[in-house]
Amino acid sequence: MAENLNLFTSTQNVIKEALTKLGYTEEMYELLKEPLRMLTVRIPVRMDDGSTKVFTGYRAQHNDAAGPSKGGVRFHPDVNEEEVKALAMWMTLKAGIVDLPYGGGKGGVVCDPRQMSMGEVERLSRGYVRAISQMVGPTKDIPAPDVYTNSQIMAWMMDEYSRIREFDSPAFITGKPLVLGGSHGREKATAEGVTICIKEAAKKRGIDIEGARIVIQGFGNAGSFLSKFLHDAGAKVIGISDAYGALHDPNGLDIDYLLDRRDSFGTITTLFDNTITNQELLEVDCDILVPAAISNQITGENAANIKASIVVEAANGPTTLEATKILTERGILLVPDVLASSGGVTVSYFEWVQNNQGYYWTEEEVGEKLHTTLINAFNNIYETAQTRGVNMRLAAYMVGVRRTAEASKFRGWV
Ligand code: NAD
Repeated sequence: MAENLNLFTSTQNVIKEALTKLGYTEEMYELLKEPLRMLTVRIPVRMDDGSTKVFTGYRAQHNDAAGPSKGGVRFHPDVNEEEVKALAMWMTLKAGIVDLPYGGGKGGVVCDPRQMSMGEVERLSRGYVRAISQMVGPTKDIPAPDVYTNSQIMAWMMDEYSRIREFDSPAFITGKPLVLGGSHGREKATAEGVTICIKEAAKKRGIDIEGARIVIQGFGNAGSFLSKFLHDAGAKVIGISDAYGALHDPNGLDIDYLLDRRDSFGTITTLFDNTITNQELLEVDCDILVPAAISNQITGENAANIKASIVVEAANGPTTLEATKILTERGILLVPDVLASSGGVTVSYFEWVQNNQGYYWTEEEVGEKLHTTLINAFNNIYETAQTRGVNMRLAAYMVGVRRTAEASKFRGWV
């Protein structure tokens, strides 16, 4: 039978398994198996050549029993309703894992910002906010950056929302530039969280991070900061990639040079002739493999060929459930996306708290709080996996879903 690569149904399956393990009823699954709200919008945008193009966008709110919805906005040609729903459900899990008073939300617009001018992207960003403005807000649903969106786009979105509401609303969105109420450490937070998980996982497996051979798929926001942090920690980054190919050098890549030359979309390999494919990169001999690009990269097809002894998922959904099973059977420690990439939402929460109180923290304060949060989350899930005899993905879902399930119960929803 063909492998199920559908992120939405895979997520539903693991949530169901987690709720069953935790002893919740079928009714709880009925509540949590889909977002409570899903809005589809059509956004007309005046293009630079004078024509009008109509874009499709989405905003999903999985469950707000534990607090307002929180989750990024993705600008990508492959965005679709099911993906947005799955991503919103993951945000619920992430918030539960790092113990934040949020439910999951997510948004997306079907577009390719790489083919658009700055002006077109600005008009699209503002149009998207106008289209979803009734549904979002600082105490309802707080967007953030995701694939192909950045702090400039967050700034335009915040400005548009503030204009609509007629008051300054920095807490409407996170991932803003510092001068508009952004938090220190937000841009690198996801990669910092992944780095903490990598170091904790390496300790559990007795691998010295100094000299450890690391492969990172993706060289965007997450992948680039990550390569820098690991390189600075003494690890040997021997492979990186982007949408167009991969670079591999068993002796270690010149990360500072690559960071200097990458473009704002995380493209670097187009400058080189001696590239390999993304699929080849995943199977390279290394100690730690970090998929930090897109979903469904490690599948039933290639899981048996993975050489790493630790896989840490910086991207959302890079490993299928079949591959998870194969990697687990092979004794490979798989640190799941909902845990590994929760540093971003953690510092987004810090940004929102700072906006609400109007008092801002230093980079050191943010870093310390992030560190404590992620180390606790990692160890909580690692121990849950050990004591319950499950893999870390199921353990993470169990920890992650509990907060929203309990909040739903106390509210009398189930
Ligand atoms: P990004 O847009 O900054 O970078 C994406 C990178 O992936 C780029 O290098 C791009 O070239 C590469 N890529 C795109 N298509 C590819 C393909 N088909 N094969 C291989 N590489 C490809 O995105 P990002 O913010 O770094 O996010 C990367 C992943 O991490 C996503 O799955 C995202 O959901 C997840 N994530 C990011 C954050 C964050 O704060 N940035 C937080 C949580 C999760």
